[in-house]
Amino acid sequence: MKIICIGRNYVAHIQELKNEIPEEPVIFLKPDSALLRNNDPFYIPDWTQEVHYEIELVIKINRIGKGIEKKFAHRYFDEIGLGIDFTARDIQNKLKAKGLPWEKAKAFDKAAVLSNTFIPISDFANSKAISFKLDINGRQVQDGNSELMMFGFEEIISNVSKYFTLKMGDLIYTGTPAGVGAVQIGDHLEGYLDDRKLLDFMIK
Ligand code: ZN
Repeated sequence: MKIICIGRNYVAHIQELKNEIPEEPVIFLKPDSALLRNNDPFYIPDWTQEVHYEIELVIKINRIGKGIEKKFAHRYFDEIGLGIDFTARDIQNKLKAKGLPWEKAKAFDKAAVLSNTFIPISDFANSKAISFKLDINGRQVQDGNSELMMFGFEEIISNVSKYFTLKMGDLIYTGTPAGVGAVQIGDHLEGYLDDRKLLDFMIK
């Protein structure tokens, strides 16, 4: 199983980090050791001073595929979950400045929070406009909608499968909307997919 993440997929988030608008999806990977499930607490590592939350829609691949055409991409997933792409922003900024890979900042242990529950696509009234949000200590900090993604689910699957064979159980984190920021010890994070609370855990 692999975890594929899409960066820079919402214009407002690209602007807040002063990044360039990409011509095709920005892709990076996390290992399976990055998963944090069961609403277990997240422990801020001692080597970073600035871990940012990024709430994201996550699609789960349900069959093997390579070089998938966009028009067939909808056949490769049927459930959506919620995740947080934790990012050590201070480390990432240093690596980016040197033109080095991001793995230390993005792929470290427990940096990929994942909901235990995935919702069938068929349960959404409009599968092209799926809303999600993140609350911290009861205050909304991020809200997104899949209709605002620059690259939609089908386009992502098609593009990613040009480079990587997709296998059953692979996860794709589809990018974060604006509003990212740092977590602090004691924070209570709650993530919602539509009106369903799928994430509910503490920062320690
Ligand atoms: Zn992200």
